[in-house]
Amino acid sequence: MNPSQDNQSQSDTDSASQKKELSRRDFLRSCLRGSAVVGIGGVIGVATARSSAAGSVWQIDPAKCTACGRCAEACILTPSAVKCVHAFAMCGYCKLCTGFFDNQPHKLNSGAENQLCPTGAIVRTFVEDPYYEYKIDEPLCIGCGLCVKGCSSFGNGSLFLQIRHDRCVNCNQCRIVDRCPSQAVRRIPAAQAYIIKGKEPKR
Ligand code: SF4
Ligand code: SF4
Ligand code: SF4
Repeated sequence: MNPSQDNQSQSDTDSASQKKELSRRDFLRSCLRGSAVVGIGGVIGVATARSSAAGSVWQIDPAKCTACGRCAEACILTPSAVKCVHAFAMCGYCKLCTGFFDNQPHKLNSGAENQLCPTGAIVRTFVEDPYYEYKIDEPLCIGCGLCVKGCSSFGNGSLFLQIRHDRCVNCNQCRIVDRCPSQAVRRIPAAQAYIIKGKEPKR
């Protein structure tokens, strides 16, 4: 084998391993997204079953919500029926997630002192360098929107707030409607159940 054949062979090997690495990463990411869709799908299933008799349900329009923080207090329930939801398909799986980390973290690790969330409701899991997955521990989430603001300001905006039908009692007049400064809360058909960021229906 001459040097150029040797180089070609090495190059083929490198190319094959790069393709393998890429396809492994693509597969990994598509698996993660798949599991996320299943997660949100499960939520939709619950919502449809619980609210189908009501005809319509309250939802936040993610395109209008400014994560002002009022949802945490305005809901008649404590904690609020509004929680953070993650649209995984929009997420960059960033190592430095501005929805997870405080403005000036001491270190890029999960130490409480580095986190933006006041209740530690975001679970950060290493995927593979340099990717991390962020999941909401829903019982801990109070719907304050701090993470949503951080993610929307400097990240992909994949974290958003939504009224969860497994908590919301579907008040005749949602208290958040009166307090929302951006008219982001409206009724939608119960069959539709959820407005998912990135998949908003045309009005
Ligand atoms: S920062 Fe607020 S909205 Fe985000 S996960 Fe934590 S409690 Fe929920
Ligand atoms: S409808 Fe009632 S329970 Fe549901 S989010 Fe609004 S105030 Fe909270
Ligand atoms: S009150 Fe309106 S703008 Fe503020 S967090 Fe709730 S839905 Fe978003």
